[in-house]
Amino acid sequence: MKIDCHCHVFDNDCIPAVGLLQSRFGIVVESRLPEAGGADAGDGGKPFPDSLTGRFSLDFHSLLGSLTDPAEKDSVRYLASHPRDFVRFILAGMKSTADIAADMMGKARDIDIWVPLMMDTERGYEGAPSPVGFDAQKLAMMDLTARGKGRIMPFYAYDPRSRSVDAVRNAIEKEGFVGVKLYPPLGFRPSGNDDPAVEANLEDLYDYCTAGKGPPVPITAHCSWSDGVYSNRAVPGVSRYKEYYRDMAHPFQWENVLARHRDLKVNLAHFGGAGEWERRALADPPAGAEKNWADAILRLMGDYEHVYTDLSFHGILAAEYGEAYGQALREAVRGVEDRVLLGSDWYMSAIQGGLADYWRNFAAALPDLFADLTGKNAIRFLQSPAAAIHFPAFLASQNGIDSSFVDLFC
Ligand SMILES: [Zn+2]
Repeated sequence: MKIDCHCHVFDNDCIPAVGLLQSRFGIVVESRLPEAGGADAGDGGKPFPDSLTGRFSLDFHSLLGSLTDPAEKDSVRYLASHPRDFVRFILAGMKSTADIAADMMGKARDIDIWVPLMMDTERGYEGAPSPVGFDAQKLAMMDLTARGKGRIMPFYAYDPRSRSVDAVRNAIEKEGFVGVKLYPPLGFRPSGNDDPAVEANLEDLYDYCTAGKGPPVPITAHCSWSDGVYSNRAVPGVSRYKEYYRDMAHPFQWENVLARHRDLKVNLAHFGGAGEWERRALADPPAGAEKNWADAILRLMGDYEHVYTDLSFHGILAAEYGEAYGQALREAVRGVEDRVLLGSDWYMSAIQGGLADYWRNFAAALPDLFADLTGKNAIRFLQSPAAAIHFPAFLASQNGIDSSFVDLFC
């Protein structure tokens, strides 16, 4: 039994292109969204004069990072040097959700179960709305889940600025979702937000996930410094938007949460990011402390028995430095290897290569760990009342169940 613990099937219409361009590359069409509320963690820098012409401007620091940092695997620099991969990525997202899923399942024939993670960009790219809203994305996900009969186990995206925990409860108990996805760089921290309502919504989430008698409901949280997207909202007193939003995903943001909710089952996804692990595989001089996220994740995994990580979006490392990457990883996770997961991050990872190659390269780079990463580790991570009780009930009310898959989690 092999499980892809981290993939995506939302299509391009779920992600606003203008917001993405602004956040990822610092290329601002019209103007960066003004921030309501104060800057609670200003970087001390002077506000950068965003508007050069009124309609088009550059966020200098974000663009410079995107052009110069070779560790970023989805930067302008990377895309310019990998045009064919970029085209593969764009074409993958132009399909419908159903077709993205069918294509993904067809290309990874060895995989039995997929865990697609939703993305809620409504507050992150406010003012640059996507053609397809969050509710429509959710309905498409539910339809796909029903048709999967147990082979599609989706995570519900939660933005604590938009919704209360009631939305999570509904998603888990009635709509076929088996876990929760958090994407902090879209503008909130796992804890320590200024807005008490946001804090309360997050506390309610952590309470809900750990409340039942069975294992906790799993959460997957984006946790990478070198890849990903960010809110396009300006913040008074902040000029380095990328760093500002990126740090919302930093593993240290989880320390207070875990101290209060020791049983929380959380996957700090990407293991700090592909850039981090490229440096480790190549034994480059140690990164500056501010970029060393993997050690912080490992420390949390040591302190808390339900903290996991995943290797999603590391495909290019398995492809290019397979042996060295496998060696560096194996040494780092010794003692906590039963909480490492593997996800393709398809179709984000289409930027790095093809899907069949992704799995082949990982099987070669981690021959001793591959079966556990995609097997028992993933099963343990997904096991909770959500997967054991509510998910089968949802399937039974829809298109039926293939119990050879669903029974794994009961
Ligand atoms: Zn992802």
